[in-house]
Amino acid sequence: MRVLRRGDGGPAVAEVRSTLAALGLVPPAGGVAGAADQFDLAMEQAIRAFQQQRGLITDGLIGPATYRALRDATYQLGGRPLAYLVSAPITGDDVATLQERLLELGYDAGRPNGVFGAQTEAALRNFQRDYGLTVDGICGPETVRALRQLSPRARGGRPVLLREQERVRRSGPRLTGKRIVIDPGHGGADTGVSVDGVNESDLMWDLARRLEGRMVATGMEALLSRGQDQCPDESTRAQFANEAGADLVLSLHSDANRSPLAQGLAGFHFGTGSGSTSTLGEAMAGLIQRELTKRTGLRDCGTHPKTWELLRLTRCPAVRVEIGYLTNHDDRVRLTDPAFRDVVAEGIVVAVKRLFLLGENDQPTGSFTFADVLAHELAKAE
Ligand SMILES: [Zn+2]
Repeated sequence: MRVLRRGDGGPAVAEVRSTLAALGLVPPAGGVAGAADQFDLAMEQAIRAFQQQRGLITDGLIGPATYRALRDATYQLGGRPLAYLVSAPITGDDVATLQERLLELGYDAGRPNGVFGAQTEAALRNFQRDYGLTVDGICGPETVRALRQLSPRARGGRPVLLREQERVRRSGPRLTGKRIVIDPGHGGADTGVSVDGVNESDLMWDLARRLEGRMVATGMEALLSRGQDQCPDESTRAQFANEAGADLVLSLHSDANRSPLAQGLAGFHFGTGSGSTSTLGEAMAGLIQRELTKRTGLRDCGTHPKTWELLRLTRCPAVRVEIGYLTNHDDRVRLTDPAFRDVVAEGIVVAVKRLFLLGENDQPTGSFTFADVLAHELAKAE
């Protein structure tokens, strides 16, 4: 699809506008002649508000992700039958609501990501069996009625998100055997941010290799999500991690801004506006943020819940870090220094250690070195 922006007009704009109106984000069409198919300032503001609320990139443009989220937002539970379609999974807010309801009732429907997958179907079938409904895995009128009648047994239990945590706890406090997918952003023809001949894709590739070496040395299994000259899309990267059975996905990027003053480090994990969050993803993002701000002096831009493809579609905890702004002079100087990238790699390995060792041998943030991590693992192996 063509990206729509302010100033555009035509039937595609009219369609988005009527969706926004149905969601109550802009007043219904009518009144001003011709306005219904014009992308004006009010519409841009409505799009920005919608993007912010949905954890999307707030750029006021209607690209594929925003378009999909708008379409998803128009579906309400009960409005259409829901089932698992292997070749083209159904997505929408109705699916997210179904998942949330199943989770609240204690059925493991997977992350409430709005995608009707195999796990959602399995949870739905279990629910239907337990409640004496027809066990067909289809969420139709009978199932919707039953879901509405039941009050949640334990509100906010979110078993699936707790289960991520439990899986790590049960596997024991060790790094050996952990499978980490390192995802260097962009690649190939897509250089990412490019300033003064410095490419985000090259820097992140180099950082990924430094990280990979350190992880392998501590007994972790590190896999890269792409080759040096490849640029798979986000869902392909997520699929790679899922098929590899990854314990953790770390996506490496650096940022850009129109203002050369914007600088710093930010972390992102899966989370929705309604408060569902990947507990471990959030913990991982927080640990990386702490280690790296302490070690590098990068400004702390915080950690944030997002529904970006990679975070949404991976089954294990996933974190995306935006390491500095290439559009900022100080950050760019830092990033182009290989020694700085070593410090970043070291900080990330220590943060991963903290996550998987769950505070065992805890030392103050920023004081662990890579050698300590290595020594710890070697001691255990003996
Ligand atoms: Zn990037």
